[in-house]
Amino acid sequence: MTERFQGSFTQQEPIPGEGIAAALEVLRHGRLHRYNVAAGELSETALLEQEFAQATGARYALAVASGGYALGCALRAVGVGPGDKVLTNAFTLAPVPGAIASVGATPVFVGVTERLVIDLDDLGERIADSGARVLMLSHMRGHICDMDRLMSLCDAAGVTVIEDCAHTMGAAWNAVPSGRHGAVGCYSTQTYKHMNSGEGGFLVTDDEEIAARAVILSGSYMLYERHLAAPGPEVFERVKYHTPNVSGRMDNLRAAILRPQLRALDAQVDRWNGLYRTLEAGLRDCPGLTLVDRDPRERFVGSSFQALMLDWPASALEALLARCAARGVELKWFGAPEPVAFTSRYDSWRYAPCAPMAATDRILAGLVDLRLPLTFSHDDCAQIARIIRAEVSAVHQQGG
Ligand SMILES: *Cc1c(COP(=O)(O)O)cnc(C)c1O
Repeated sequence: MTERFQGSFTQQEPIPGEGIAAALEVLRHGRLHRYNVAAGELSETALLEQEFAQATGARYALAVASGGYALGCALRAVGVGPGDKVLTNAFTLAPVPGAIASVGATPVFVGVTERLVIDLDDLGERIADSGARVLMLSHMRGHICDMDRLMSLCDAAGVTVIEDCAHTMGAAWNAVPSGRHGAVGCYSTQTYKHMNSGEGGFLVTDDEEIAARAVILSGSYMLYERHLAAPGPEVFERVKYHTPNVSGRMDNLRAAILRPQLRALDAQVDRWNGLYRTLEAGLRDCPGLTLVDRDPRERFVGSSFQALMLDWPASALEALLARCAARGVELKWFGAPEPVAFTSRYDSWRYAPCAPMAATDRILAGLVDLRLPLTFSHDDCAQIARIIRAEVSAVHQQGG
């Protein structure tokens, strides 16, 4: 009898009871807008920002409407404008080049290695030949490159780094939280990320002018003094007449459900990594399948899992996906010629011209990906591994 996995790859956990109670409180008093406060009241959004700054060790934090908004806001706040070039990963998701395009700039793609991180040699070459002065670094699927090497490369070349931490909230490199190496760190609290408010995001920085510009950009009007994790009014005086309002605020309802999730984040990361290690153990030494090694300096968040079927023909990968899907295991494939659901690749973003990237294409052509929601048990992960293992062997033996 062949086993079939019955779970759902898209089912997240419920919002914690404390969050539901806090949300009801906001609904009862009706002050959902972050600047709508009673006398002496601190808004849920302002408190959340203060707590997020503490959690990441950043001087300033801003909560916004989405992760994609945080990315675009960060680009504007560091001064990127129409016609500029912005370096970014070829292996990422659509909101990243989309944020670059949203400010009229052009993405310059940098290749990916077998460890699924940005290729630092390629980055050095792209910096030199593009002249770009900003890197939007996507820690795609939670794989963190050697950040010490990346930062010394970028610092030496005068390249400002904005980190896309949509998949690394709660992660760290060499004990420094992800998002705290570059000038700005951006996070998402969209349902499929590490905290769930449906939509939402954050931006953190230690730079007072970037912080003040981001607050005004996000739609503070002249109410910026109601922030608890923003610079003093003298900094806003310097930027307020020159910074446009591009509204993208967070609201108190979302902030209310995020505050208890932030307190639980570390424990959730441990749970994710437990599931990840179970799945990984079940796929060790599977002929045809290459696991992605994790660097010991990386404190990652195993909220998704990737494996490489290097140099398989496309038809074999298609067969593998179909066979796994028939047994309830939804794999995503970054080698598909057409964008599907959330998955697309650098050459499907045709607004951003690029030359073919052979080394990157080889990785993407073999890359399969799956989500690990916390609603899965260890038994679920062991079963998913058995199914993938059996189907990889079956296809591989047929000469795949
Ligand atoms: C989800 C995601 C974002 C953007 O987040 P939204 O909150 O959905 O706008 C950015 N980068 C990556 C890699 C993502 O997966």
